[in-house]
Amino acid sequence: MLHKCGFCQGRGEVRRSFKLPFSTCQVCSGKGTVYVEEPVITCAFCEGTGMQPNAYPYALLTCHACRGKGVVTLKEPNVLCPDCLGRGRVIDGRVYCLTCKGKGRVEVKKECGVIR
Ligand SMILES: [Zn+2]
Ligand SMILES: [Zn+2]
Ligand SMILES: [Zn+2]
Repeated sequence: MLHKCGFCQGRGEVRRSFKLPFSTCQVCSGKGTVYVEEPVITCAFCEGTGMQPNAYPYALLTCHACRGKGVVTLKEPNVLCPDCLGRGRVIDGRVYCLTCKGKGRVEVKKECGVIR
């Protein structure tokens, strides 16, 4: 499915800083949309902005969890991540949660009954 590019909010261009001119969005190559495999949820780590949270002010970095798309693929069934409780990040906020890879939720594997 094609989704609106989170990093540029569908504009196809981004500004790395407020002093610099707009340049082509590297996430969607300027198209404004990105292909993401269904089913998708909003990326918990960047809250759909596609930007790395708590990056140095005005330095726009793509989100490590969704690679700037703002959405991530998450198959059903899934549950709230037990390690970050859906926030998608660890306490200091700069690094995404390794358990859910920043999604905030984890897929439930049917083979093993234990959710971890
Ligand atoms: Zn884009
Ligand atoms: Zn993200
Ligand atoms: Zn997590």
